Amino acid sequence: MPNGAGMVLEDRIVYAGGEYQRYGDVRVGLLTHGLQYGTGCFEGVRGFWNPEHGELYLLQLEDHYVRLAASAKVLFMTLPLSPAKLAELTVELCRRNEYREDVYIRPVIYKSSEDVGVRLHGVNQAFAIIVIPFDRYFDSSLGLNACVSSWRRIDDTIAPARGKITGIYVNSALAKTEAQLNGFDEAIFLSHDGHVAEGSAENIFLVKKNRLYTPDATQNILEGITRSNVLTITKDELGIEVVERAIDRSELYGAEEIFFTGSAAGIQWVRSVDHRVVGEGAEGPVVRAISRLYNDAIRGRIPRYQQWLTGAYAAERAVSVS
Ligand code: PMP
Repeated sequence: MPNGAGMVLEDRIVYAGGEYQRYGDVRVGLLTHGLQYGTGCFEGVRGFWNPEHGELYLLQLEDHYVRLAASAKVLFMTLPLSPAKLAELTVELCRRNEYREDVYIRPVIYKSSEDVGVRLHGVNQAFAIIVIPFDRYFDSSLGLNACVSSWRRIDDTIAPARGKITGIYVNSALAKTEAQLNGFDEAIFLSHDGHVAEGSAENIFLVKKNRLYTPDATQNILEGITRSNVLTITKDELGIEVVERAIDRSELYGAEEIFFTGSAAGIQWVRSVDHRVVGEGAEGPVVRAISRLYNDAIRGRIPRYQQWLTGAYAAERAVSVS
C-alpha cells in the first residue's frame, strides 16, 4: 500500500513560513490578500513513482520554479529562494512525507497581508509547498468529449495570460463548469479574437496530414511545460513536423486527431468537439506514439530524458549502492 494512503490532509507535512510543518498547523487568515483578490501564483508539478527503480521522479521541478518566478515577478513578488534551492526543499518534503506513489506538488506564492485595499505594491508575501498523492486528472481511456466554451480565454490586455496566477483561474473554472454541466468533459477556449487557445487547464494539439499543430505563444496560452516536452518528443523521436500558429475553430472539426497536454492531465486524446467526432473517434496513431514515449520518459524509462527528472530518493539510493 502506498505510504500516503489513508493519511488525512491535516497530518501531511508541508513547507510554509520557511519551515516544515503539519498542514493542520498552518494558519491562513480570512482577510489574506491572495484569498480576497486572487493575488497569488502557483505551479502544478507531478511526481511519478517507479517501483522497479524504487524512485519518485519529480518532473521538471526546477523549470516549474523558473516559471513560478516569472509569474511572481508580474505580481511584484520574488521567490524566497532560487529555483534550484526550492527544488531541493521539494525533494526533502517528498522524503519527509515518505511518498512512494504518484504525487502532485503545489508550490504557491501569494500576497499575505491581512488588510483591505486592492493593489500589488506594499503588500507582504508568503510562500508554501504542498504535496499530495495524486492519481489521474481525467478518468477517460475512451477519450474526452470537448466543446468550445462560450467563455473566451483571458486576454493579455486584461490580465497576464502567461502567468499562472490564482485569480485568473476563475476564467478556467467558468469554462470547465459550463462544459461539464452541459454534459461535456472539457472546454476549449477561443482567444479574444476567435482563435483556438487551449483547454481549461491544458494546452491543445491537432494532427492533420502527418503534421502537428498547436497555438503559438502569442495566442494567450499558458506556455505549458508538457507542451514543450511534447514538441521535443515529436521532433526528436517521431520526425513529425510541428507548426505553431493561430488555429481557427473549424480546424478542430477537420482534424484527424486532437489531444490535450498538461502536468495534471498528462496527454489526453479527444474523442469529439462540439458533437463532431474527431477522426475515427478512437485514439489516433500520433497521440498514441507521443503518449507512449511521454509516459515512459516521466517514469525514468528513457535514459535520454532522464535530465527532466529529479529523483526524490536519489541520495538514499546512492548510499545504499556504495
Ligand atoms: N494551460 C493552463 C491554463 C493550465 O492551467 C495548464 C496547467 N498548468 C496548462 C495550460 C498546461 O501547462 P503545464 O503543461 O505546464 O502543466
